Amino acid sequence: MPSLSPHTPFYSLNAHLRARFGERVQKITLDAGLTCPNRDGRVGRGGCLYCNSRGSGTGAAAQGLDISQQLAAGLANLAKRYQARKFIAYFQSFSNTYAPVATLRQLYDQALAFPQVVGLSIGTRPDCLSPQVLDLLRSYTASHLVWLELGLQSAHDRTLRLINRGHDAACFAAAVREAAAAGLEVLAHVILGLPEEDRDDMLATAAFLADLPLAGVKLHLLYVIRGTPLAALYEQGRYSPLSRQQYVDLVVDFLELLPPAMVIHRLTGDPHPQELLAPRWCLAKAAVLQELREAFLRRQTYQGRRWQGRRQPELSA
Ligand code: SF4
Repeated sequence: MPSLSPHTPFYSLNAHLRARFGERVQKITLDAGLTCPNRDGRVGRGGCLYCNSRGSGTGAAAQGLDISQQLAAGLANLAKRYQARKFIAYFQSFSNTYAPVATLRQLYDQALAFPQVVGLSIGTRPDCLSPQVLDLLRSYTASHLVWLELGLQSAHDRTLRLINRGHDAACFAAAVREAAAAGLEVLAHVILGLPEEDRDDMLATAAFLADLPLAGVKLHLLYVIRGTPLAALYEQGRYSPLSRQQYVDLVVDFLELLPPAMVIHRLTGDPHPQELLAPRWCLAKAAVLQELREAFLRRQTYQGRRWQGRRQPELSA
């Protein structure tokens, strides 16, 4: 872990991967063609307020591409673009533990059959984790990196109801503890700028995360995607996205409260330009990241500066 300061203000994913593997490691985003219990009616219908019919994914499965084909294409593209030799297979779209264990094993095994793939990153919901799924994921940890990415978005149950998540914060905390106890590295997904949340609410979510055995966090800006329930609210003038300045200030405040050992996997989102309604400023990702670095320097602060020395994540070696 690097020593953090206003010049190295957070524990970045790149720094973490270089320390772990000694070289650059790239993620390849995959769509396994699964669905989500919050869309198919098991937990809810219609999905989360901001989710579109691709389930935050690439849509590659709907184009008929299986995991091996998606990986082969990703490897060729990213190896050339970044001169990378090692890769993490990122199962992103929908809920990637929402299928029979035999199906999941087949999907994950397809990805790990590529010798360049050094790890799995599995995006899912906290209410989609059976002991059998945890056992399956743990079975890969002896030979590969395994990250379990769990959506929380907010630590406030009133917000989770408002955005139609279909689970509460206690469900998330229990899932994190169970997965960490099973020896998995768990990442939390959080969204800043959710409807009816103020700065104190968002920072309370940071404090909530700081108390859990999490290995990492992904921060997203809430952006408005066409065809979502959020888009209808936005068009009726009932939702306003954060400004760039508000977002930058919030991210700095948020990171100050997280433990320095928590890896920051993402600091903003990557919406598809054609799908994005607002805010358009988030398309200038490099400028946002630069502004964030300048804000840490201007404020002479860094990740963990206001962390209250809460319990360190209980991580496996
Ligand atoms: S849990 Fe994920 S895939 Fe399911 S509705 Fe919410 S955002 Fe979409």
